[in-house]
Amino acid sequence: MDFELSREDRLFLESVKSFAERVIAPRWVDLDEGKWPIEEAAARLGEAGLLGIPLSSKYGGQDGTFLQAALAVEELAYADPSLAVPVYVLLETAWPYMVQRYGREEAKEEVLPEVARGRAFVGIGSTEPQGGSDVASVVTKAVKEGDLWKLYGEKNMVTGVATILNLPYGGGVVAITRTGRVEDKHRGITTFLALLKRRGRVTPGFTHRDWDEIGRHGLPTGYLTLEGLPVEEVFMLGELNGGFKVAMEGFNLARTVIGAASVGAARWLLDRGLEWIRQRVVFGRPIASYQAVSFRFAELYARLQAAQLAVYKAAWVADRFYRGDSAFTVQDVATAGAVAKLLAVPLAVEVALEVMKWFGGASYFKETNVARALLGVLSYYVGAEGAENIMKLIIARNVVGREFV
Ligand SMILES: Cc1cc2nc3c(=O)[nH]c(=O)nc-3n(C[C@H](O)[C@H](O)[C@H](O)COP(=O)(O)OP(=O)(O)OC[C@H]3O[C@@H](n4cnc5c(N)ncnc54)[C@H](O)[C@@H]3O)c2cc1C
Repeated sequence: MDFELSREDRLFLESVKSFAERVIAPRWVDLDEGKWPIEEAAARLGEAGLLGIPLSSKYGGQDGTFLQAALAVEELAYADPSLAVPVYVLLETAWPYMVQRYGREEAKEEVLPEVARGRAFVGIGSTEPQGGSDVASVVTKAVKEGDLWKLYGEKNMVTGVATILNLPYGGGVVAITRTGRVEDKHRGITTFLALLKRRGRVTPGFTHRDWDEIGRHGLPTGYLTLEGLPVEEVFMLGELNGGFKVAMEGFNLARTVIGAASVGAARWLLDRGLEWIRQRVVFGRPIASYQAVSFRFAELYARLQAAQLAVYKAAWVADRFYRGDSAFTVQDVATAGAVAKLLAVPLAVEVALEVMKWFGGASYFKETNVARALLGVLSYYVGAEGAENIMKLIIARNVVGREFV
């Protein structure tokens, strides 16, 4: 057991911190207010080597680890607690990695270097209007027509479609589609990298509209209607009817880094809260001198350390598994990722609400920015990349046993 980062990881963390402080922190409010486009942030992230951290250098990546990705996302969330930038980076940690792991060589060589440079975005198209939690029941169809697959259906709450359309190369979504019978559940699912814009040209066969979100305005989420979107065979990920595991592995990784984003935002909130309670004088004393305030700080501080360790452990487990350590299984990655999300996300929401109370009425006004962080972490609290109960379901199934849950 060693709680110290390696020299390489320490240097990496210092360079991300410096980048986040210089480039992201001064602009995060602009980003949230639509005054700094995410595509510009993406180009800077690409230059800094923060997109596709665990991707192979063969595809323009950094040959980095999931621990490094978690460290980076945490620092980016400290710099942008509304979470647009860290969510961009965490999605580009998980889903392009699935393209690298399960994609055909030609697809990887074309798309992944564009992702790493911030010229393409690869998101996830899983959720459908009838519900997001039951991924094995998706009904969006992929039908073979001649040489091409054509996608028909509705995907809801897809992050990054507008971003894809604005990026120079473009990109797409890892689309979870039905190729078998609905009754076949997870055995009838195939996953494709469905490019919505490729080499600067928008693909025909889809429409989209953005939702008007309550927070995290920097990275839009919308509704995607697939009306025969063409996908070449080479963009299939994994095997025909074998796509469910691709999706599950992607979610496992995403959840680990979502934990990191939540920890980063919670750290930012708690630091702002600490500054405030030390200097805010009420009834003649700083409010930090009231135990009702400082004990609550202590409790949240302790729980945040625990959540942070759970995130680092989940990243470490993912690194072990994906680097071929046979002592770890994909279930270990799933459990650790679910633990990370389950601990970190509600805690970040709780920290935000408590810090808002310490700020009192001032927190209700946009200028204090605390509410922007609350609205950012709320996206994961209400369900993005898996609702809280689904995290419990994963842990219970893997630990208590599938026969019981
Ligand atoms: C900001 C934002 C961005 C998003 N981005 C994406 C994206 O890029 N791509 C994408 O595909 N999706 C995205 N989503 C959707 C997200 O993945 C879904 O919200 C999530 O999977 C939950 O699905 P749902 O909202 O349809 O809730 P439902 O599946 O309808 O669930 C509703 C409630 O029922 C509970 N529930 C469901 N089943 C069970 C059960 N078996 N036991 C106990 N409780 C249960 C859930 O915990 C939840 O509280 C995004 C969502 C948000 C808010």
